[in-house]
Amino acid sequence: MTTAPVVELESVAKVYPGPPPVRAVDGVDLAVAAGELVAVVGPSGSGKSTLLHLMGGLDRPTAGAVRIEGQDIARLPDRRLAALRAHRIGFVFQDFFLLDGVTALDNVAQGLLYRRVPARVRRERARTVLTRVGLGSRLGHVPAQLSGGERQRVAIARALVGEPAFVLADEPTGNLDTASSDAIVALLGELNGAGATIVVITHDLEVASRFPRRVEMRDGRITAGAAR
Ligand code: ADP
Repeated sequence: MTTAPVVELESVAKVYPGPPPVRAVDGVDLAVAAGELVAVVGPSGSGKSTLLHLMGGLDRPTAGAVRIEGQDIARLPDRRLAALRAHRIGFVFQDFFLLDGVTALDNVAQGLLYRRVPARVRRERARTVLTRVGLGSRLGHVPAQLSGGERQRVAIARALVGEPAFVLADEPTGNLDTASSDAIVALLGELNGAGATIVVITHDLEVASRFPRRVEMRDGRITAGAAR
């Protein structure tokens, strides 16, 4: 059975203007099919984050084509692209931000603002996901009362509470202790089991080894795992 790729990159390059210009992604061909669980690995500076931004339509390529769910993002007006991101994609970033003075529960419930769900249901779902990431006893805490690792888990819960069809995560387990990291990997695996397509950047080779497909990057190019 062949499924249309959720995201497809064709001869994609991303050059950051210098001086000197940096070819952060340099001629990448990559397709990720619906339901895949992919780890992206490679040394720091090899272009992993840039690749993830391109895959999620957060950035447009300098050359080549990026298609998300079959749509060439070069042809999508900014508003349509923003809507595609908001409704279909869950982003987990390292430099996440939470709303100050707002409880963990409400920070996560915010992740459902775009969905047509009543506030009560948003909070119920937020509570469920926070419990899944081990924060069931921190629902009423505001960010200032949480540790760095706890804030990171709140941000992950917020990205995943809407059960997005496509999840892009940049080092979601970085800086977490083993138990928290395991909980995040389990949660990603569960979402994937329910049908979500997931791409995760990780430095952690132990985490990467649990993923069915690994894409390796070096100097802006894919050196392994380009084909399924
Ligand atoms: P990785 O995620 O593998 O660490 P990045 O995609 O963050 O790699 O970076 C790839 C290269 O692009 C690096 O040399 C980095 O310094 C450069 N780079 C990343 N973002 C920018 C930017 N906004 N402006 C200029 N250069 C950038």
